[in-house]
Amino acid sequence: MTYLISEPCIDIKDRSCVDVCPVDCIHEADRMLVIDPEECIDCGACEPECPVEAIFPEDALPEKWEPFVKINHSFGEGLPLVNGLVETYAVENNVQNS
Ligand code: SF4
Ligand code: SF4
Repeated sequence: MTYLISEPCIDIKDRSCVDVCPVDCIHEADRMLVIDPEECIDCGACEPECPVEAIFPEDALPEKWEPFVKINHSFGEGLPLVNGLVETYAVENNVQNS
């Protein structure tokens, strides 16, 4: 299991979660941060730190944000892939967080 970051982080990126992660597995992409599922130890420390409630355990991610399973799990394949998936999602869903 892992925790995942979802839509509310897009264009917010305040980085509160990064400061509390004991294994430094939260990484910065262009428009949001993502968790590397290979590194996450499932401690839950990041979840209450997020001011926009973007962080969930994978098995509790709201269904409407299912694309963020792939987005976080793509970290291992490189940030260009993550950035492309986030951009596609943001355009298709007209994301306007600020
Ligand atoms: S659950 Fe723990 S290890 Fe995983 S990203 Fe959050 S703080 Fe880091
Ligand atoms: S605390 Fe929330 S909004 Fe801030 S960077 Fe982390 S996931 Fe994104």
